[in-house]
Amino acid sequence: MAKYALWTNDVETTSIWFNTLRDETGFKVWKEGMPVLLDIYQKYGIKSTFFFTGYIARLYPDIVRMIQCYGHEVGSHSYSHKKEDGLDVLPYKAQLHQLQTSKKILEDISGEEVISFRSPALRLSKDSARALIESGYRIDSSVASQRFDMFLSFGGIKKLNWLTAPRLPYRVDENNIFKKGSSPLVEVPLSATLFPYVSTTMRVFPLITNIQRQLLHTETSWNEKPIVFDIHPNEFIDESNEERTIERRSRNPVSYFLQDVIRSKLKVKNLGPAAAPLYEREISYYAQRAYTFLTLKDYCKQKGLLAD
Ligand SMILES: [Zn+2]
Repeated sequence: MAKYALWTNDVETTSIWFNTLRDETGFKVWKEGMPVLLDIYQKYGIKSTFFFTGYIARLYPDIVRMIQCYGHEVGSHSYSHKKEDGLDVLPYKAQLHQLQTSKKILEDISGEEVISFRSPALRLSKDSARALIESGYRIDSSVASQRFDMFLSFGGIKKLNWLTAPRLPYRVDENNIFKKGSSPLVEVPLSATLFPYVSTTMRVFPLITNIQRQLLHTETSWNEKPIVFDIHPNEFIDESNEERTIERRSRNPVSYFLQDVIRSKLKVKNLGPAAAPLYEREISYYAQRAYTFLTLKDYCKQKGLLAD
């Protein structure tokens, strides 16, 4: 039985250190963060999917081109990563604009068709499926089935839909991306075990990740669910030499405390050079267990999930 691990990357101008979007951070992501990831992937023979915001691609087009000679896939991470442009709050037309603008920028730069998508902060509404299909995407990986975020991330209430979403990859219902249906759009859910199985957990709560990977491997041996891990090149850069104030994103005082203060303090743990060995430990666990490492697109093709 073939077991798959899909290592996916969200490429954007978010500064974890400053808790805000910054063009200077985007420059460091390109020059310092991306090379660390590309080296790790080459070492383990990994083909991976990179989701770029249209914004960073337009700012530094070479950040897209630099992955292509290694056979990685160019995917879209929408156009804007601003909180107010989340797909869960934008009306349908505005969602289309985000999705189409990003696709066009990335296709112009890469010369490839872009069919894979991940939403910024995984924010989606039920009609995002229709918007994605109308924009020409065929694969989405923004649903974290059975992950429970509540107040720890933006759009926490809509993310309750994750609790009942299918666990294995599925064709989505055109009117509800969180449900199985017969549309041409394939959802490849991110791995989760109530806790997110992502790079932030790996850096901040490595003990939880130790347990998670064993559970997830056991599950995959049982039902062939692909491991889908999410990491960001901005986690490999070091901005600690610059002075820091925590920017306030939430108006509600409880949300401010939970999302801005606590998260900002925790989220900087193991940032920079310390993140690379943690990520390698994650990858080697699956390498030792004979997993195949593919891009989302190649995984979906191999499994016959894409519509003709
Ligand atoms: Zn993102």
